[in-house]
Amino acid sequence: MAVPKRKKSRARTRHRKAQWLRTAPPASASCARCKSPLKPHTVCAVCGHYAGRQVVQVEE
Ligand SMILES: [Zn+2]
Repeated sequence: MAVPKRKKSRARTRHRKAQWLRTAPPASASCARCKSPLKPHTVCAVCGHYAGRQVVQVEE
């Protein structure tokens, strides 16, 4: 089994992991009808609307 030749320094490890801070946060959106938060391009779980029309019946 291949083994790394040298130990990675703390600085190198932390520099690599710091790149995660630069990445964009996950996308989010809000329902156009009830303003509840939801992922983009998904049916609203609260009111069942998508693209301005009722697509899922939500029981009260
Ligand atoms: Zn909604």
